Amino acid sequence: MDTQQQLKNMFKGAGSVKVMKDKNAVIYTRVSTKEQADNNNSLETQRKYCVEFAQKYGYKIVSYFGGTYESAKTDERKEFTKMLDFIKKSKESINYIIVYSVDRFSRSGVNAAYIAKELREIDVHILSCTQQVDTTTSGGQLQQNIQFIFSEYDNMIRREKCVSGMKELLKEGYRSGRAPLGYKHLLTNERQKIVIDEESGPIVRQAFALRGQGVSIDDVASQCKAMGRYIDPKRLSEMFMNVFYCGYIRNKIIGDELVKGKHEPLVSEELFLKINGADILYPQNFEARPTDNLFPLKRFITCAKCGVKYVGYTVKGRKATYYKCNTKGCKCNRNADIIHGDFKTFLSDYMIGEKYTGPLKLQLSMTFQDMNKGNEGVKAQIYKQLREVEGNINTIEERFALGKIEEEVFRKVKSKYLEEQNVINNELRKVDLQLSNVGNFVNYSVKLASKLNTMWGSGDFSLKQGLQTLLFPEGVLYDYENAEYRTCKSNSVFLSMAQQSRVLGQKESGKIDFNINFPASVV
Ligand SMILES: [Zn+2]
Repeated sequence: MDTQQQLKNMFKGAGSVKVMKDKNAVIYTRVSTKEQADNNNSLETQRKYCVEFAQKYGYKIVSYFGGTYESAKTDERKEFTKMLDFIKKSKESINYIIVYSVDRFSRSGVNAAYIAKELREIDVHILSCTQQVDTTTSGGQLQQNIQFIFSEYDNMIRREKCVSGMKELLKEGYRSGRAPLGYKHLLTNERQKIVIDEESGPIVRQAFALRGQGVSIDDVASQCKAMGRYIDPKRLSEMFMNVFYCGYIRNKIIGDELVKGKHEPLVSEELFLKINGADILYPQNFEARPTDNLFPLKRFITCAKCGVKYVGYTVKGRKATYYKCNTKGCKCNRNADIIHGDFKTFLSDYMIGEKYTGPLKLQLSMTFQDMNKGNEGVKAQIYKQLREVEGNINTIEERFALGKIEEEVFRKVKSKYLEEQNVINNELRKVDLQLSNVGNFVNYSVKLASKLNTMWGSGDFSLKQGLQTLLFPEGVLYDYENAEYRTCKSNSVFLSMAQQSRVLGQKESGKIDFNINFPASVV
């Protein structure tokens, strides 16, 4: 069978809705709290489209779910659970859930793909009015999964935009989030202003002073209590390490870079350094030193047992390199080659099989084209305008040539048309750019995802670090005893694609971590 035929078989049926035995359906609608009730996605509009869809294709609506405004953040959505229960318990066999679009089904793409798969196993299919696919075929299932994932991708991009706004503020020295103890927010019409709180500020200052004199944290806690403010020791020790108090801002979002804050410090830098040591303000130089090249996973791996980051070291006189955590009694020394080899194996869990990259790319592009139909429409509209203007220019040139209009009029009118033409061309470029960025994203991601472990293995130090961080922004945990890596957080696009690949290959691996979390401060 040639590739063409294989592809055809693979995606046979995608794009059309096949009718199954029982056509009982429920309708599910959802809006997140952030969305306006009066836009196109309102519950009423969604329901209207779903009903029309059901009527058109002859589905019998058994029940409606999702009449409330639900938060996009939690997955414990009551209506959703209620609907699933209803489907499972209903005497009439229900085979369909009709939604307006797949992102209405669930906002978390990977999770949605998972639930959809579970549902298919009991012969329940999700029908999207606006993205019709036949999920009784593997091609259709894949297409729907990709739709789920891109609704998540979309969501992610929006989050990123929000993060980049936050980054700018942080870099300018503004804190994100609540003022720490000892400070308060001042309400102004302009930007946030954090000032020292006249009540708690002096207590915090005194706590720092005591700690600087070597008083134990527990004793500092009881002295604070005596001053009228109990701060528990755990909070105190966090407080003593917070660079905000000596006038700085540090945040993971800006890569732990230290920025001079816009607020007034409560304690001197000198005192702060006395308590914490110089490392806290001026951490290790992150530039790769020659020997660092041997340890790409240094400071990236965290010891699963004690929570301390691994360091690398070379045994003098021997060529062997090792990793370990520096905790006494942890005894987790391991040869660097083994650690690296295990990491490569671990990466293969996040890879897309080479033979699936073609079909996957095709599907991704198709889905994107679908999602970009709006844009294509806009483009067609712009083209129409462009042709009109070009027509006008031709006409006026003809009339001038025929001596029907004066040169002055001709020049004036023509320059007006040329200006219009210019504006339209700019619009066109903007739309094209949007469309081509999407294509680049598809190509880049698929290529990367299919070669993760070889790229990591053969890449230089900085490529290694780049890939690691892209996939696991927060590093990984290493379980020394079981010689196993575990993730903290991973990049959702790659995870999703790896899962797609699994759906395609029909193979299961229990290792994938489906809990994709974004830092709470970002959402
Ligand atoms: Zn350890």
